[in-house]
Amino acid sequence: LSDLEDPYEALRARMKVCTDCQLCATRHEVVVDRGSPMARLLFIGESPGASEDASGQAFVGAAGQLLDELIAEAGIAADRFLIVNILKCRPPNNDFPGDAKSRFKVEDTVLKCLPWLDKQIEIVRPKVIVLVGNKAVQWTVYRNKPDVPPMAELLNKWIRSDRYPGVEVFAMYHTSYLLRSVEKSAEEGAGLRKTAITTLRWAADALQGELPEAEFLHVRSGDKRYEQMKFF
Ligand code: SF4
Repeated sequence: LSDLEDPYEALRARMKVCTDCQLCATRHEVVVDRGSPMARLLFIGESPGASEDASGQAFVGAAGQLLDELIAEAGIAADRFLIVNILKCRPPNNDFPGDAKSRFKVEDTVLKCLPWLDKQIEIVRPKVIVLVGNKAVQWTVYRNKPDVPPMAELLNKWIRSDRYPGVEVFAMYHTSYLLRSVEKSAEEGAGLRKTAITTLRWAADALQGELPEAEFLHVRSGDKRYEQMKFF
């Protein structure tokens, strides 16, 4: 297939020039992804940082390098995954829209960008999704729901969501959080790293069709009150 015939490459080309929200004014590069679109394991992070904004590649800074290290330690080959983010353009100062320090509203940014993620998922058709960080959890499986559990409650669980039928979903702390934890306490950092490796091994097994011996969590479709956030 030529790039124009390949649906993922055609999507990538459209994303690279997107001006659908206010974040296009300050970004340098639209960060579409990193890895193989042919892979059935999809990592979803939060938003690009400075390194990603400069390079146009997802998860290439310190947090990305740690994620690669953990993925390799879990025995997943580099050509077996694709990494994307919820937001494709870096928010100024890395302040995620809707957070206290951000001047951007989610409806003006995140909700405008999510159709790109949905299209990526539709084309890639992942068998396994690993959500990296609580924003990834919030804007994927919990998109239309009011109460997003804290990450600590989602670790060690195997998730299925009405939103992604047939896909095994796992969640892990963002690797930038792991980096900060190591700085605070080597012991806590080591514990979080061990949990992340376990999650990634489950993801690798799920890719082979083996279901993990973890607690199962079914996330049902959104509450009616939140239907206004459903836009596709
Ligand atoms: S953040 Fe998303 S919607 Fe906004 S300009 Fe970038 S690609 Fe487009």
